[in-house]
Amino acid sequence: MGRLESGAEKQAVTDIRNYQPAADVLQGRVILITGASDGIGKAVAQAAAAHGATVLLHGRNVRKLEAVYDSIVAAKQPRPSIVPLDFEKAGPEEYEKIATALEQQFGRLDALLHNAGMLGERAPIEHHDIPKWMRTMHVNVTAPFILTRYCLPLLKRSADPSIIFTSSGVVPRPRAYWGAYLVSKWASDGLMHMLADELENRPKIRVNSIDPGKVRTNMRRQAYPAEDAETLVEPGAIVGPYLYLLGPDSRDVSGETFSCQ
Ligand code: NDP
Repeated sequence: MGRLESGAEKQAVTDIRNYQPAADVLQGRVILITGASDGIGKAVAQAAAAHGATVLLHGRNVRKLEAVYDSIVAAKQPRPSIVPLDFEKAGPEEYEKIATALEQQFGRLDALLHNAGMLGERAPIEHHDIPKWMRTMHVNVTAPFILTRYCLPLLKRSADPSIIFTSSGVVPRPRAYWGAYLVSKWASDGLMHMLADELENRPKIRVNSIDPGKVRTNMRRQAYPAEDAETLVEPGAIVGPYLYLLGPDSRDVSGETFSCQ
C-alpha cells in the first residue's frame, strides 16, 4: 500500500498493500468499527475477528448488525458486541453512553476505526441542497469527532492504541460536483493530522487515515450507477492494510494517509 503525499511534502513509499498478518495478530485487542453493518466496515470487522480481535460492531441497522454478529459467532471467533447508533439523529450524550458502556464492559479500547460514511448529494455548489450538506458533514466529520472525543480516555488506557479515519481519492484528486462528501473527506483528513500532532507527545497513540480505493459496495454503486461492478474489488480483498493499522505492526506510524489500491 502506498503512503500518500502529505501536503507538498513527498513521503517515502511504504507498501503495505500486500501486508500478510499473522493469524493471531489482533489477539486480545478490543476494536470499535463504525459502519460495520455493510461494505468495507463489515469485511474489516469479520477479518479482525478472524485474527483474534473482539470487535464492537457499530451501525444504525440492528438487523444487519446481527447478521454480522452471527457470522462471527458461527465462525467461533471472539464474541463481538453490537453498538447501534444513527449518527444523523444521535445527540452527544448518546455517544458518551457508548463510551461509558465500553468502559464498564472492557475498561479500555485498543483501536477505533472511523469507517461509517454517507455519499450525500453530488451537485454544483450553487444548487447543493443545504440540509443534505449539513447531514453529510455531520455523519462524515462531526460524528467521528464526537466519538473520538469520548473514546480518547479509553484509548489512553490501552498499551497500544490506534485511531483510523477513512479517506478517499477525492482528497489527493479534488474535482467538481462532489459536494459535501469531498469537503467532509478533506476535513476528516485534517482532523486526523491535527489529532496526530496533538498526541505527538503521547507517541503510543497513533492516528492515521486510509483510502480504500474503488471497492464494490452500496456507496460506490450510488456514486457510479453506470459502472460495471465486475471491474471493482470486493471489500474482503482490501482488508490487509486495515489489519496493519489496527494491529501492533503499525506501532510508531502516525499522521499518515495510506491507500489500499
Ligand atoms: P457502504 O454504504 O457499504 O457502508 C457505509 C456504512 O456506513 C454502513 O455500515 C452504513 O450503515 C454506515 N452509515 C451510513 N450512514 C450512517 C449513519 N447515519 N449512522 C450510522 N452509520 C451509518 O459504504 P462503503 O463500505 O463503501 O464505505 C465505507 C467507507 O469507505 C466510507 O467512509 C466511504 O466514504 C469510504 N470510501 C469508500 C469507497 C468505495 O469505493 N466503496 C472509496 C473511498 C472511500 P447502513 O448499513 O445502515 O447503511
